[in-house]
Amino acid sequence: MTLEAQSAAIAAQFDYTDDQVNSAVNEFRRQMTEGLEKDGTSLSQIPTYVTGVPNGTEKGLYMAVDLGGTNFRVCSIQLNGDTTFNLTFTKVAIPRKLMVAKTAQELFAFLAKQIELFLQKHHEDHFEQHVRRRMTMSSPDGYKDEHVFRLGFTFSFPVQQVGINKGTLIRWTKGFDIPDAVGKDVCALLQDEIDKLHLPVKVAALVNDTVGTLMARSYSSPGKTGTVLGAIFGTGTNGAYVEKLSNLKKPLSGEYDKTTGEMVINTEWGSFDNQLSVLPNTAWDVALDKASPNPGIQMYEKRVSGMFLGEILRLVIIDLLKDPKVSFFKDENSSSNDWKSTTNIVSDSSIYTQWGLDTAIMSVAAADNTPELSTLRGELEKQLDICSAGLDDAQAFKAIANAIGRRSARLSAVAIAAIVLQTGKLTDPANADEPIDIGVDGSLVEHYPYFRDMIYEALRAIDGIGEEGAKRIRIGIAKDGSGVGAALIALVAAGMEKRLTTADYLGELRSNAKSNNLTVVPEDDAAQD
Ligand code: ADP
Ligand code: MG
Repeated sequence: MTLEAQSAAIAAQFDYTDDQVNSAVNEFRRQMTEGLEKDGTSLSQIPTYVTGVPNGTEKGLYMAVDLGGTNFRVCSIQLNGDTTFNLTFTKVAIPRKLMVAKTAQELFAFLAKQIELFLQKHHEDHFEQHVRRRMTMSSPDGYKDEHVFRLGFTFSFPVQQVGINKGTLIRWTKGFDIPDAVGKDVCALLQDEIDKLHLPVKVAALVNDTVGTLMARSYSSPGKTGTVLGAIFGTGTNGAYVEKLSNLKKPLSGEYDKTTGEMVINTEWGSFDNQLSVLPNTAWDVALDKASPNPGIQMYEKRVSGMFLGEILRLVIIDLLKDPKVSFFKDENSSSNDWKSTTNIVSDSSIYTQWGLDTAIMSVAAADNTPELSTLRGELEKQLDICSAGLDDAQAFKAIANAIGRRSARLSAVAIAAIVLQTGKLTDPANADEPIDIGVDGSLVEHYPYFRDMIYEALRAIDGIGEEGAKRIRIGIAKDGSGVGAALIALVAAGMEKRLTTADYLGELRSNAKSNNLTVVPEDDAAQD
């Protein structure tokens, strides 16, 4: 078989037909409902205790940190109250060795250190003032709460949330593995390390990146309608949406505001259909899963997100390289190559190691429409030490990569469609002229060419959505979503502290005062508006 025919045959294995998309939407909806009713289901449907989305008028200065899968971002955000904001941030790559550290403390100490560096660099005056104040205050704890930065902690791993700033880690994903952290409150882990450095920072809210994306998009999106879904397509994939409280049948433990009748639900859709009843399953999907740190789980994520697409492609390439019947990335001599040199792969090319092919190169492949595919061939050499790839090699690489990318986008449409249908907004006459707003974030959806177009193509083919429905769905990038969203949730948390805990707080201080024979009457300084 020629390389062209062989690559076309492989690409065809990544087709995901309209019928398959429709069956998957039905199954997604079934698993959503199941997750709202009980614990331990495929879609966790985690209640977030966030009971409303912002409308753009919120104000204040907040901090936010984001532990994604690849980077750690620290930022401060000034919300201006007119749908705009000013954001300052730093970003560092998370050292691989910390992702698999022996103790959680090692990772969280690193995170706290980055917060300290950020404050020193960007809020120096403020920082010094805080430290001075904190040390000279005569209150029992040695500092006064109102001068503390409230921080929203975006932690993009599955967490059992038990309050707005409290949640225990259920499991690691995306290549992290620090067993000692599982079951612990991640906010407390971070606060402990912040306190060791005496930073004037309070971890006020625990935020899933999807919830942050939803909030951020709702704050900055045009028009009066709130956003219904926040979705991530980055290292991993996940979504959070606004659900009616009446549909949430499983019991809730913490306090929350019941007046809105809604709650944001973190679906943890990365583990949609772990049982593989509707997900596609090629030989390479099987191989990827088997060699992954968490076989059998996050099965949807393993077919959709940035961490995995490159690895699927790499596994296909390795198989093709081993096939004696096809000539892939090899030519007999330089005369058969239009670049007049012999193709070769350097022996220590990262193509031979697990996770060695970054999904980013698939974006290069999809974007390169030059007749010679010279950009792609240049990147193959630069990123993967594949030297002087022939045009036919690059075409085969591109065809397979595109098929994997396209399948990912069509699978992404499944989750989006299921949630849009779940909200009932497409058929609600009260909502007839309103767009259905969706915020997305993550390098894959942001940088992969035509990713959103491919999502829309699939949406149009879904029963109950169709051409008309797809036109009403507005998918927009939530720029700086995690930072702004976390700030917004820290703001919600500050309001909740004031409303919900002033009573407890006063009660506690009074009883402390009694036991210490003090007669202080504390002022209400819990909130910073
Ligand atoms: P995080 O998930 O840590 O928040 P990102 O949203 O930046 O970070 O996603 C990082 C993932 O996106 C990585 O898996 C990376 O391979 C992938 N990625 C980065 N750049 C691109 C790109 N240009 N096209 C497609 N995927 C990309
Ligand atoms: Mg992210």
